[in-house]
Amino acid sequence: MIPETRVNPQVVDLISRLHRQGFEAYIVGGAVRDLLLNLEPKDYDIVTSATPEEVRRLFKRQARIIGRRFRLVHVRYGSTVYEVSTFRREPTPEERRTRGSDDGVVLWSDNQYGNREQDARRRDFTVNALFYDPTDGGRMIDYVGGMADLEEGIVRMIGEPAVRLAEDPVRILRAQKLVAQYDFTLEHELAQTVREQGASIGLASRSRLYEELLKIFDKPFTVKTMAVFRENRFLCHFLPEVDRWWDESAGLLMRHLMAARDRRKAQGGYWKSRRLALATIALPLALQRLEVENPRDFIESPPEDAGKVVRNAIRELLEPLPIPKALSHDAKDVIMLLPAFFRKKQMNRVVRNPQYRWAHELFSLLVEVMEWPSEMLEGWPPADYGPPPLRSPGRGRSRGRRSGRRRGGESRPPEGRGDGATG
Ligand code: ATP
Ligand code: MG
Repeated sequence: MIPETRVNPQVVDLISRLHRQGFEAYIVGGAVRDLLLNLEPKDYDIVTSATPEEVRRLFKRQARIIGRRFRLVHVRYGSTVYEVSTFRREPTPEERRTRGSDDGVVLWSDNQYGNREQDARRRDFTVNALFYDPTDGGRMIDYVGGMADLEEGIVRMIGEPAVRLAEDPVRILRAQKLVAQYDFTLEHELAQTVREQGASIGLASRSRLYEELLKIFDKPFTVKTMAVFRENRFLCHFLPEVDRWWDESAGLLMRHLMAARDRRKAQGGYWKSRRLALATIALPLALQRLEVENPRDFIESPPEDAGKVVRNAIRELLEPLPIPKALSHDAKDVIMLLPAFFRKKQMNRVVRNPQYRWAHELFSLLVEVMEWPSEMLEGWPPADYGPPPLRSPGRGRSRGRRSGRRRGGESRPPEGRGDGATG
């Protein structure tokens, strides 16, 4: 069992307050998984029998209802925001038929309240459907065999893979993320279906896919996730440009850069660094288009049209995901600042550039993977990641189930606009 001391005390308090009003409340999703695997949860999802209005009444000014169709409550403790949702159930086939869809594509978010068991069964994988009550010594509720699968490292669909993946193709991606993150294995039938239905990811809401990509960037498993996508012949549907160059020298550089960033992230190197993540993928593609073999040549004498080529590379890389202009623009600036590192005279000006710290980081990743002499970094002030992360207040949701959200335990990136912004 999970010792209560391992659970964030604010979460214990939040759940206890719901209990005192006679509601059920549990931790669910990734946090339960991580607690059981002895990892530090990055955020907590909470599920309850209370309706959003009841939660708001209880937590008063601490709480804010968000979302239009998919309503949930953000409950704030100091600077941390926890997402509290009400038990829901899968819609019936009839309800599904009569429901409008999100920008014309398949959508998972449904807002029919249900009971605890229905809520467990509408979830995607057994390891994601465990409910944990951290109060009174702790209690795990497992309707779907999630504990056993977690122990054996198996990603098993709740229900029939073909049906549930067709219902929401984002699950194809989510299954593989679990494999990459925890070294789990896809259950046989699920593995087969993932491979067969990969192309249907094109039907998923783009804003949700973009959210999932950001979540990949935020964890230190970027290159592993891409590798799993490729093994399952999914990368060609999700990020075709990355897939196309995977085995070429551009792909090799990209993988090395991603792996180096993952390693630094795993060591707690930096918070979110999405523009850096994007730059590590886009730089090799841009170099390839510029027909520059060695990144050193680019840094020494960037071709005249480099800015435009980099910009286009970033755009095509992520097409058709709705990446905010600020993020792609900043990632381009990060790359275009690289040549400055060979021109120390420009240092005073360059270090004041808002993207300097990420350019420094990209350059330092290059020095590492290209095995350049470390003296090349000498004199350049190290990247400053700013003060410890502030938890950002939750923001309103846009249309996608997962869009525009920020949750408890997640930190605001120190770099402000663009990078932290999900939309
Ligand atoms: P992470 O560590 O990335 O946050 P997570 O499993 O908590 O992983 P979330 O996106 O936070 O992922 O979702 C929380 C929970 O909501 C999941 O564990 C799962 O039970 C449920 N869920 C999320 N997306 C889907 C989906 N597309 N279909 C069914 N259930 C889903
Ligand atoms: Mg989660």
